[in-house]
Parts: sequence; C-alpha cells; structure tokens
Amino acid sequence: MKSTQKFPRRAAIHLVEELDIETLPPGTHRLRLELGEDGTSAPIRAPVHVIKGHKPGPVVGITAAIHGNEVNGIPTIHRLYRRLKAEELAGTVVAAAPVNVPGFLRNQREYSDGKDLNRLFPGKPDGHESQVYAHAIMQRLVRHFDYLLDLHTASFGRINSLYIRADMTRPKAAELARVISPQIIVHNLGSDGTLRGAAEDLGICSITVEIGNPQRAQGKLVRDSSAGLRDALEHLGMVTSDEERAPPDTIECKRSFWLYTDGGGILEVFPSLRDRIEQGQPVAQLINEWGEVHRTYEAPEAGVVVGMATNPVAQSGSRILHLGVEGRVE
Ligand SMILES: [Zn+2]
Repeated sequence: MKSTQKFPRRAAIHLVEELDIETLPPGTHRLRLELGEDGTSAPIRAPVHVIKGHKPGPVVGITAAIHGNEVNGIPTIHRLYRRLKAEELAGTVVAAAPVNVPGFLRNQREYSDGKDLNRLFPGKPDGHESQVYAHAIMQRLVRHFDYLLDLHTASFGRINSLYIRADMTRPKAAELARVISPQIIVHNLGSDGTLRGAAEDLGICSITVEIGNPQRAQGKLVRDSSAGLRDALEHLGMVTSDEERAPPDTIECKRSFWLYTDGGGILEVFPSLRDRIEQGQPVAQLINEWGEVHRTYEAPEAGVVVGMATNPVAQSGSRILHLGVEGRVE
C-alpha cells in the first residue's frame, strides 16, 4: 500500500499551555493546547485551531468531542474552517476538536477514568483525573471565549436529530440558536456540571448543538451544521454572507423529556426522528424472552421526536425516546 503525505505533519504547530489570543498576530494558527499529562509523563494536548481576523470582533469558541465518541462536530469544524479567511474575518474563531483526547482515542464517551466530563464542569484544580482535565479546559481555553458553541451527538445506542439545546429565555442565545436553523430547538437550562452551564456562569453566551449519531461522520448533517455555524458567525457580524440557505423549518420546543421503560426486553420504537406524535399514540413496545409483546408505551402528550433509542436491549429504566413539546419560550 502506498500513502501520500500532503502536508508536513509538524508544520507550524505551536505547543501552548493556555490560549492567549492577545499575543497572536492576525492569521491562522495551529496550536496544541496542553491539558494535563498522561501516565508516561507525556503532555495530553488537544488540537486548537485559531483564526484571528484582521478586524476586531468577538471571540467565538467551538468545542467538539467533549464526549470522545461524538465525532460529527469534528468534520463540521473542518468544513467551516476551510472557508474562513483571516483577512475577511472580524474577530476570532477558536475551535478545539477533539477536546476529550483520551476518550476520543478510546472511542468512548467518558474521560480515561470512566467519568463523564460534561457533568464535572467547571472542574477542580486538585480533584480527581477528570475534574482536573475539566478545570484545565475551562481555565486554559473556554474562559477566553465570548460565545461558546459546544458540539455533541447522541450517546451510544441512541440517535439524534440535528437539534440545539439553549436557554431560550436569554435573547442572545435564542437568536444564535435560531440563525443556525437546526431541525429542532429545545429550550433547556444549562444544567449543573455541563460545559454550557459553567460557561454561562462566566457570562459566556453558550448553546449546545447536537449533530446526529455517535461514532459517525454523517455527511448531510455535517454540511448543514457547518452552514449553520457560518450563519452564526454572519449573525455576529464576523463574516459576510456567502450563500443563501433555504428558509428554516425549525421546530421550536418549550420543553422536552425522555420516556423510559418500566420493564426489560427487546425494545421496538415505532416513530422516526422528527416525527410528530399525537397524545396517546403508541410509540414503542417491549418483547419478552418468548417473543410476546410484554408492554406497550404511548405518548403522554403530543410532541416531536428529538432523539430515540436504537439499542434494542432494554432493562427497567431504559430510554425510549426524547419527546419535544412544541412552543416558543418568550
Ligand atoms: Zn455529548
């Protein structure tokens, strides 16, 4: 087999211990940001791509793969960056992808100690392994942002639409969510321990973008998300308009919740992503070990399917589907 190496691997990559936008000249910068050390005393470094515009403007941070197996955000960022030019940019775009480097290398959601980083923010400088890593992400990277777009996907055994979680009572976050025109927007307060919640506590306008399914690079969702992020930069006055997109048909939800099983078996979920469900409509069934329908589940109220389980192995308390209740929060 013959492979060709188009770009020298070590070209113009700077090793840094903290993002310092002030000292960077306008232009494109490839950084490796140290976030800790591994068991061989080697630094754990996340790739951070900075495009600092020639004109002043806000700092927009984009993070992907805080959950290591949530990959779609990475090609989304790559696609966005190919079309950004420092000469035309007002402000700075900082993209860190993947953020959870140990998890990414293991194809796993969690950090190397098995903990979910996105429940541990803002982290602790003297805590356990994942708390220290979360703290480094906040202090060395995220606190320097004015805006945060945190890219995720569904978890293992589940699938998601292209949807945004944002606190829609915050006007700046709500506008940002709407201009990205995802398939669905769900009003949701950044809960304790999430990167979004910790960033909001620092006054950073933050939203979470959920892009489809884990451990995948899904072409259409990547293209749509990348175009949406570009529209977000345009909305913030950082880039000029390039291409007109079709008018959004985003469904807004004032709240959402998961339905769970109350038993175990083989789970069959009937609707598809983005289907609209009537109240009382059958949405799933559990088959017992003899092949008989064991339990059936109905939608407790009308809504739209935001995400759903695909893993058929259910125990008591397994997720069935994520139902969004339509409506705008003012
Ligand atoms: Zn995630």
